[in-house]
Amino acid sequence: MQTRRKSSNVLLNTALQEFYGAADEMGLNERLISILSHSERMMQVSIPVEMDDGSVEVFDGYRVQHSTALGPSKGGIRYDPGVDMDECEALAMLMTWKCSLAGIPYGGGKGGICCDPLTMSRREKERLTRTYAARIEPILGRWSDVPAPDMNTGGQEMVWILDTVSKMRGKLEPAILTGKPVSYWGSMGRNEATGRGVATCGLELMRVLDKNPGSMTAAVQGFGNVGSFTAKTLNDAGVRIVAISDITGSYYSAGGIDIHRAFDTVRANPKKLLEGFEKTGNCEKIDDVLFAECDFLFPCARDGVINSETAGKIRARYIVEGANGPTTPEGEAVLDDAGVMVVPDFLANSGGVIGSYFEWAQNLQGAFWTEEEYNNKLVHIMKGNFRRVWDYSEAKNIKMRRAATMAAIQRVADVSEMRGLFL
Ligand code: GLU
Repeated sequence: MQTRRKSSNVLLNTALQEFYGAADEMGLNERLISILSHSERMMQVSIPVEMDDGSVEVFDGYRVQHSTALGPSKGGIRYDPGVDMDECEALAMLMTWKCSLAGIPYGGGKGGICCDPLTMSRREKERLTRTYAARIEPILGRWSDVPAPDMNTGGQEMVWILDTVSKMRGKLEPAILTGKPVSYWGSMGRNEATGRGVATCGLELMRVLDKNPGSMTAAVQGFGNVGSFTAKTLNDAGVRIVAISDITGSYYSAGGIDIHRAFDTVRANPKKLLEGFEKTGNCEKIDDVLFAECDFLFPCARDGVINSETAGKIRARYIVEGANGPTTPEGEAVLDDAGVMVVPDFLANSGGVIGSYFEWAQNLQGAFWTEEEYNNKLVHIMKGNFRRVWDYSEAKNIKMRRAATMAAIQRVADVSEMRGLFL
């Protein structure tokens, strides 16, 4: 038996240990355990950028392809000071399970640049993005590796990458990445897709628990692409959003946050933040959105926020993970003891990559769907996937995270067995 991997990086270690735990529980053979606990390909690049003051800074960029067993590796590119190879590896593995569970024809990948985008100008970010794109270009392709937005990246970054790769190859390659703006080969619905999917999981959970959304309260951590549309979709379904947050703080209103005003506030802010919302939004600032009095908590900001220090103070009984990896194993143990139910990230936030698959399929066909068609298909798939995991966890009497991991691993394992070792 090959030695099992451990990592000092919390996110990677969590991903590995959850994988081993699920693999053992389902009796997966050792050769597949060894293969799937490693990434197929990991690329590190240096990115020299001329800053606006004329100096040169060199950034580290990464792209990891964890598995291409089911299809091209798929996953976002993030800009954050915490990005490193271990983090990308962990998130790439999570993408493998996410795509497998979602039933879409992709493996898992992830990439990113270690940088602080909030301190960089638009021109600096463009130079950073284009050089990164040029350096990872050899491994990108519509049938090999298809990136998308992630933390602190969006349509603009995707256009810079697409434009750079297309110029290098001398032809337009729209299907090489997803999350593009609607005006340039993107799909209507993709921008809202992750949040819509997270909210759909929350609403499905209410349905199986026989709870009326109109009498439920929720707190949403993070008001970026995921958190904002999660809050909006829940609000539209009648759920009372009592607290929201971003890096400027946590905002609370027992009577319900005015989500439309929150959107107006970030739209008007140059850094797209909720700064000053306590004045414009008729709400008060509180210490931490995580500890707000509510029924459902949606952590949609970043990894590791629900940990041994914070988990015990959470008052919600149900948690639906919009971010990737928001709960550490220690945090989850505390939640388990307290009987808090968790819908795991790679099920709850899979609306983004399912929406990406719709966009990619349209690009390959050169066809466009209506927004209604896109949203209906997305919600239909999310509901079905939620239901499958719920039923499996009930039947086996195991947590949803374990049930989802086992189902996801099974599909990858079956295909890997059919395809053989030479992957
Ligand atoms: N970054 C998103 C995620 O973590 C979307 C990935 C994609 O669409 O490829 O799921």
